[in-house]
Amino acid sequence: MTICVELYKGVVGIRSRLTQLVKKLAFLWPGVIGSRGKIRTLLVLLGIPVLIFCALLSVTRWAVVCDGDVLVVVSERQMAETAVKDYVSRLEKTAGMPVKIPEDAIKYRPIWRLAAAEDKQALQRCLADKLNYRYEACGIFIDDKKMVAVRDKSVGQEVLDKILNTYSQGDHLKAEFKQKVALKKVLVDINELMEADQAVEYIRYGRTDVKEYQVQEGDTLWDIAAAAEITVAQLIEANPGLSPKKMQIGQEIKISLPAPLVDVLSTYENIRQEEIAYPVREKIDHKLYWGEQKLVQEGRSGMREVVYQVTLENGQETGRKVVQQKTIKEPVPQIIVKGKKKLLAYRGEGRLAYPTSGTIVSPFGARWGSSHQGVDIAADYGTPVVAAEAGTIEWTGNKSGYGICVDISHDSGVMTRYAHLSSTAVQSGQRVERGQFIGRIGSTGNSTGPHLHFEVIINGIHKNPTLFI
Ligand SMILES: [Zn+2]
Repeated sequence: MTICVELYKGVVGIRSRLTQLVKKLAFLWPGVIGSRGKIRTLLVLLGIPVLIFCALLSVTRWAVVCDGDVLVVVSERQMAETAVKDYVSRLEKTAGMPVKIPEDAIKYRPIWRLAAAEDKQALQRCLADKLNYRYEACGIFIDDKKMVAVRDKSVGQEVLDKILNTYSQGDHLKAEFKQKVALKKVLVDINELMEADQAVEYIRYGRTDVKEYQVQEGDTLWDIAAAAEITVAQLIEANPGLSPKKMQIGQEIKISLPAPLVDVLSTYENIRQEEIAYPVREKIDHKLYWGEQKLVQEGRSGMREVVYQVTLENGQETGRKVVQQKTIKEPVPQIIVKGKKKLLAYRGEGRLAYPTSGTIVSPFGARWGSSHQGVDIAADYGTPVVAAEAGTIEWTGNKSGYGICVDISHDSGVMTRYAHLSSTAVQSGQRVERGQFIGRIGSTGNSTGPHLHFEVIINGIHKNPTLFI
């Protein structure tokens, strides 16, 4: 029906223009038979086609072409342009963001024929079917690669801020991306767009890191998955064909873990109070015997406040350095004095040194109907006792009858024993030098007064110590 009306209008248009043409020709006609008739005739003959051409031009239609296809034919180009513009702005209004159509996506071609013209609505219906358009959105680029598209720059910035804040608790000095991150304008399909939270999740877990794992004895799929913090289903997904029955020790299996598309480097300050270890100072006291030592001052730890600058990558600490520290409490050094004095007796010429200062009050051998296994050297309570020869402490402790006792083993199967001590200064396994302080005279064990019971045992047989000292 519309076409018929348009056709009719076209026909009427042509008729009125032809009428005008005839009138013009009538005006020219008298001249043709005049003196310059030939020229006029020529002009008329040339003029007619021009006029016909102009008439045709005045009935020109416009084909609206999209991607090489004619969408519709309209009577006015401007109407079509406005219709396209309206259509695009309607799209923009609905989406709330700019819409771009590729340049030259729509072309207007004049056609010189009597064709029916269609209206704005018809054109817009065709556009909905055919027009290829994109939304102008904001792309989040990581190392120049487009990862995500969001509505606009403010949403893009919101996404980046959220990711940075994931790993910093506000007290961070600085949080930045390890990779180059940029927000740029992009043209996308509407279904490519992500909401802010969706984009944050995607960037935080969008990459998959694959690690190799070697099956150990006793491993189950469940153990491996649990250790990697993934599900058994995810484990099987990464290793098609993997079954618990076929698993072998040493077999390599893949563990895929979600990893972020971008890494966050952050720094924060950590203030800690730390103990300062006390120094140990040794002093020589010539009044003390060699090997003897005394604690003069108990060491006490100090305290300091240290400010660390901690660096993190995706929330995991990668390093720390001290930026500031102050001492709250100075440590107190431990002072130990050590003896250098050597027992006079030790200087004896015997193969063994005399183990203490004092005189032998009870000799080796038969005594009160039994055998005395060593010699007794009487000395004041607390008198130092020294090793008769270099050796290793074989045993030290409390021995029935002997009381506090030290056994020292020397080379060639020789052993010396020091009994009834009040204290020892050595430990089992310790190496001692000839003349080194090992303990003090006492009266422990089966003893009637302070004295040293000294034995010399060679290859398990007790010998008379006086033969050696
Ligand atoms: Zn004795």
